[in-house]
Amino acid sequence: MDSDTFRKLGHELVDWIADYRDRIESLPVMSRVRPGEIRARFPSTPPAGGGRLREAIDALDAVVLPGITHWTHPSFFAYFPSNASRASILADLVCAGLGVQGMSWQTSPAATEVEEVVMDWLRQMVGLPDTFTGVIQDTASTSTLTALLCARERSSNFSQNREGLQGGEPPLVVYASDQVHSSIEKDALLAGFGKKHLRFIATDRAHAMRIDALAEAIEADRSAGLRPCVVVATTGTTGTTALDPVAGIAGVARRHGLWLHLDAALAGTAMVEPEYRWMWRGVEEADSLVFNPHKWMGPGFDLSAYFVRDPQHLVRVMSTNPSYLRTAQDGEVRNLRDWGIPLGRRFRALKLWFHLLDEGVDGMRARVRRDVENAHWLADRVDETPGWERLAPVPLQTVTLRHVPQGASDEARVAEHNLAIARRVNEGGRAYLTPSVLKGQQTLRVSIGAEGTERRHVEALWRELLEAARAESGGTPGPER
Ligand SMILES: *Cc1c(COP(=O)(O)O)cnc(C)c1O
Repeated sequence: MDSDTFRKLGHELVDWIADYRDRIESLPVMSRVRPGEIRARFPSTPPAGGGRLREAIDALDAVVLPGITHWTHPSFFAYFPSNASRASILADLVCAGLGVQGMSWQTSPAATEVEEVVMDWLRQMVGLPDTFTGVIQDTASTSTLTALLCARERSSNFSQNREGLQGGEPPLVVYASDQVHSSIEKDALLAGFGKKHLRFIATDRAHAMRIDALAEAIEADRSAGLRPCVVVATTGTTGTTALDPVAGIAGVARRHGLWLHLDAALAGTAMVEPEYRWMWRGVEEADSLVFNPHKWMGPGFDLSAYFVRDPQHLVRVMSTNPSYLRTAQDGEVRNLRDWGIPLGRRFRALKLWFHLLDEGVDGMRARVRRDVENAHWLADRVDETPGWERLAPVPLQTVTLRHVPQGASDEARVAEHNLAIARRVNEGGRAYLTPSVLKGQQTLRVSIGAEGTERRHVEALWRELLEAARAESGGTPGPER
């Protein structure tokens, strides 16, 4: 492709993205296609000749958009917020345009040094002490895997790096709450701990990890001759944004010599507002922590922030080349390939830089507060409306609720009713939320935090829920009839 064509098509596509964002509210939030429908619109063999890019651009509206669930729609209340600010889209364009691999300092010094700058800005923004150093990873899953590998090596005095799982030592054990994200289970498996050595610690009524249960589990394992290794605390669980007591967990970890990893994938963003920092009180004692700016903060996927207290430990586990280890230790330059799993690295720091200059820390704080206030508004409606239940505290932007039809006594019927409400709302296309099960109870989970979500969108969602509950209750014979 020559430069003139690139310029022309590029301008056209920027317009297409801008138009898409402008009209997003008119589109059904959840994609309505059936499995295989998109695939069937494509030829089954690849194009032999070139020069046909126009066909793809023309097909975006008709072929691709119907198969898109609109994550940046202001009425997207499913899963978790996944913003992709316009500023970060432009940064991604620059990243792609430069086409660099930032695996070591020398392969593009700017890629490393801009990352160092923005990660230190980020550290300050969420109030972490300067004992922490940050590096960008692709996802929280990878960051936590990295943490578990480091914990494993520290506990085994680097023996597993040498001998793998063949060293014949007693097994190492991982601890996390029964509300922990599914990625921790996968990471424990990948890091070689084995599912058998992952303990799900009981939670209290607010769904936060019980410190006494953690201490008991560690003592029991120790008496059984196992080696307690790492505890994963969560600030903002996926189900209900529950807040594990980090300071208390840190005390137990310290007493027993465990690594403390903090998963704040969603909630970390909230810490830009100092008023919310009590939620991870004790964070300064963590050995590592992760949060995803690509969720609530604004920059588009992928941008996961991994902070460690001892980068030399990280580099010692991840480095494949002793000479680079020396360079990292003397602190002159960083070779970020030794700070994580993949060798190749995109210039993702551009997204954070562009986004921060565009929104500013003050803008970000205001948006986080807006979203938390909107969640509190919805929680108040649920609390004051007969027939509706809230199943968890609302410290942040997620509300876990359900409708209990009159006379419904057994869980199976309540579950069916709420699944029907979710289906009705989601298929209606005007809003999208996630049904989920919390300790055996069917719930509807509303996660607020798209950049464009204002109070009116949350009010509209509440009306949708009330209407869906009424319609579904009408169709369900109750004992009163
Ligand atoms: C989203 C989330 C994850 C997983 O994040 P990825 O970046 O997709 O791997 C892990 N833990 C929590 C608490 C999350 O909210």
